[in-house]
Amino acid sequence: MPRIETRGRLAPTPSGWLHLGNARSFLLAWLWARKAGGRVIMRVEDIDLGRVKEGLRDQALEDIAWLGLDWDDGPHAGDPPGEFDQSMRFALYRRQLDKLISMGKAYPCVCSRKDVEEASSAPHGDDGPIYPGTCRGKYRTALEAEEKTGVKPCWRYALNPGEHAFHDEIKGDVRVAGATLGDFVLWRRDALPSYQLACAVDDGVMGVTQVLRGDDLILSTVRQLALYRDFGLTPPQKWAHVPLMKAPDGRRLAKRDGDLSLKALREKGVRPQRVVGLCAYSCGVIAAPRDIAAANLVETFDIHGLKDRPMPSP
Ligand code: GLU
Repeated sequence: MPRIETRGRLAPTPSGWLHLGNARSFLLAWLWARKAGGRVIMRVEDIDLGRVKEGLRDQALEDIAWLGLDWDDGPHAGDPPGEFDQSMRFALYRRQLDKLISMGKAYPCVCSRKDVEEASSAPHGDDGPIYPGTCRGKYRTALEAEEKTGVKPCWRYALNPGEHAFHDEIKGDVRVAGATLGDFVLWRRDALPSYQLACAVDDGVMGVTQVLRGDDLILSTVRQLALYRDFGLTPPQKWAHVPLMKAPDGRRLAKRDGDLSLKALREKGVRPQRVVGLCAYSCGVIAAPRDIAAANLVETFDIHGLKDRPMPSP
């Protein structure tokens, strides 16, 4: 049997400056792919047109290259937007949505967030209140939904409420009932594809074989695995969901920690080897903080040996 080439990906969202937490996840995703002798794809997740700001895409690409992480497929800073920028791929996402609609797996939904919150004093999942399925089976088309209610609908995925399972390299076997996630949005009422849809389509058509990302997205994997199956696309074979980085004071690191943005650190004269060393130390890739180039971590990298330490102050 031909050996399938490993393909990892880096998927920045250019809605803010990249921070140390992003750097650590990208470093790990890159090390995992390079250790396997695989390719790295750079994909810009800029579908949320209202949140993406001018200049942030090029800054993100520059920051990642500055860290010493390279990629085989994808844009570089200054390149015009193209096939690796999600904002240029809406027609493809729409075709995949239409496929789900024709399979009876997607339905129009006119519920507002407030409706969802109020319905059955909705329990919360990882992505806000769990949608109770109010509109499932109610309308045949978006037009019918809009004519009957005067509201522009979104499209939701009818998720099987039964058990979903996958293996994670870090968390082990993950099992979750679809009913605890609810039917999620595929296409927003403001005519933008959702992260779940765009991400599953792209990982599928780009032939991604392994995904490493923050563990805040672990339940997204359950949703996306359901989508690959319906799209008839081969899903990534390996998943690794890594803990989100903690700030030096133990808090979760957030985009508002502006002084921990890679841009701010670069402007202060911090060297990339220092950032890489701190990131590597904070997840157990090296035993003590020291300056080191990303390329020098590939040989000894072990996805199963990761630890979760607070980030030392740069
Ligand atoms: N674009 C997401 C982020 O920047 C990552 C999503 C993913 O890896 O699937 O957090």
